[in-house]
Amino acid sequence: MAGFNVSDKALDFLLGCTIDFDLDTGLSSKLDTGKRYLSQMRGLYRDSAAFEAMLRKEDTLVYEFHGMPVPEDPGDLAFGCSILNPGKVGDEYFFTKGHFHTILETGEVYYCLKGHGYMMLENPEGEWSAHELTPGQAVYVPKRFAHRSINVSPAEQLVTFFAFRADAGHDYGSIETRGYRKLLVERDGAPAVIDNPNWA
Ligand code: ZN
Repeated sequence: MAGFNVSDKALDFLLGCTIDFDLDTGLSSKLDTGKRYLSQMRGLYRDSAAFEAMLRKEDTLVYEFHGMPVPEDPGDLAFGCSILNPGKVGDEYFFTKGHFHTILETGEVYYCLKGHGYMMLENPEGEWSAHELTPGQAVYVPKRFAHRSINVSPAEQLVTFFAFRADAGHDYGSIETRGYRKLLVERDGAPAVIDNPNWA
C-alpha cells in the first residue's frame, strides 16, 4: 500500500490504544486512507474496449486501502486493510494494481476478513501461484513476489488485513509497465487462470 505520512502525534495515538477493524467493512477510524478509481487502472485490464465503455458510464471506485501511520523503519510493521469492490472488466475480475516491494527481499502477510477472492503471486523469475481467500484464511507473500488481490464474488467486497516490513516500499511501476503474467477471468461462471496476452 502507499506510504503514509507519520506524525509524532499519530504514533503516540497508536501506542496509546488498541485498534479496531470492523470485520464487515475493514474500516477503522484511526486509519489513513487511499482510493483507486477505475480511471487509475487504465492499461491494466486485458479488455481495453470493455474498460473504456465501463469508464464512460462511471468512474467506479475499485478499491480502498487503509494503513496505520507507523514510521517507515525496518524494525516497524506497516499494517492495515484493503477493501476491494466486486466487479468485472469484460470477463476479468476487479483486482488491486499489485506491486513488488521496492526492497524486493521483504514478505507480507494477508488475512481475509470478508468475501471471496484470490491472491495472485509472481516473482521476476516467472514463478507464480494463485491462493484462494475466504474469511479466516491467511496468505503468506514470500519475499520477491509481486502480489495482487482479486475479488471473484459477484456482490460482496473482499476485505483483507495486511502487515509488512514498514520500510519495504511499493513498486507499482513494474506491473503498470509489464502487466501480470497470469490473469484471473470468469469461465463458465468460475474463476480460471489464463496467460496474459499483453504481458511484456
Ligand atoms: Zn505489499
